[in-house]
Amino acid sequence: MPALQPQPPAPGRVWAHVGQPFTPGPHDVLIVGAGRMGTALALALHVHAPHRRTLLVEEGGLPNEDGATLLAPGVWTLAGLPDALHGAAHWTRAQLLTLGGDQLQSRPYLTLHAGAGPGRLPTPDALAGHPESLTLLNPASVPWATPQDALTYRPGLLAQQAAQQAIGQGTDLLLNTRVTPHPGGQVTLERLTVTNTHQIVTHETFTVQARTVILATGAQAPAQAEHHLGVHTRHGRAYRQTPHLNAPSRPGSPVLHVQGLTLRPQHDAYTLIPAVHHRDPHGYEPVGGHLTGVPTGLRRETLEDLVGLMDAAPVLATDALHLGRSLSDVPGAWLALPHGDLHAPPGHERLDEHTFLLLGGPLADSLGLYAADQLARQIAAGSEA
Ligand code: ADP
Repeated sequence: MPALQPQPPAPGRVWAHVGQPFTPGPHDVLIVGAGRMGTALALALHVHAPHRRTLLVEEGGLPNEDGATLLAPGVWTLAGLPDALHGAAHWTRAQLLTLGGDQLQSRPYLTLHAGAGPGRLPTPDALAGHPESLTLLNPASVPWATPQDALTYRPGLLAQQAAQQAIGQGTDLLLNTRVTPHPGGQVTLERLTVTNTHQIVTHETFTVQARTVILATGAQAPAQAEHHLGVHTRHGRAYRQTPHLNAPSRPGSPVLHVQGLTLRPQHDAYTLIPAVHHRDPHGYEPVGGHLTGVPTGLRRETLEDLVGLMDAAPVLATDALHLGRSLSDVPGAWLALPHGDLHAPPGHERLDEHTFLLLGGPLADSLGLYAADQLARQIAAGSEA
């Protein structure tokens, strides 16, 4: 008798348009939010809990243009991470290489300093072979550099790749649908559609029950936990803008980190990733600042930082820096801040018997996949108990 071959898993279903009828099937796990964290969790659940039936629900498309994932820097590095997190970061790196394949790019990561210190090289030596990078800096102001490694990638593409693999293994995906969680694992699904006057209207509403619900809704998750589940958390959010710097970069150009600002080579130029200084207060609406009386699209804190950096990186004082005239000119997104802390790693938290929160935040490029894997393990252990 021939040996039984293991059957490949049946792919999941995808509902992208309101025209496709959706019938809520039985699902054990419902993941809300198909950003980088939600999609990573869906994939990790196939490893740790392959028999759970998972539904991934996203308010927008994949990736959502309003989410943090699309504008995340996509710079994996150990720079700035405490030793205790290096193991998780290395694990994430290996996963990125498996998942991201061709889109990953290895390059140096240089942190620039005003003073000498262990492991630091003179900046011109550290940038030997990268004249395009040296011209951005003033080596008299930042004469020392710590060289490390980076992997750069596009988190939006990675989320798509993770979602595709998860669907291939059986995850169902429901797009254009807003979820409202309720205590006890019940959720309301509202399928949304956009009218020709750009109004979002609810097309259909369903109520679904799942054994486990995960809010992987980024910066919106803490408010959703509070409003719909009555669970107050200490997580915060901040609005981060990523202005464009029109200075030439090459495929191997280093990522530069100068006094909190990251210059990330991208599309033959640079994307600037400014420091996040604090959580934004409740109700904060981002507004552009003024530079010498002229309105710009950059928020005030970011503008002040860039002005303060003009000595170390004189390129910021040139018209290569795209300041915009109003907020909509500069790409920006709300970023979750786990525990309201700028240095807290991504992680999860149990909100009630059925619901978890999964937050990425500023360190998700280097640690996000690890955090999703940890939660998948916990869900798998819980469902076997
Ligand atoms: P993360 O880095 O944690 O993945 P993102 O902001 O990129 O953060 O992703 C969160 C995703 O969750 C976004 O794509 C957003 O559209 C989605 N989302 C937020 N709230 C809801 C909701 N109520 N229902 C469905 N999707 C939601």
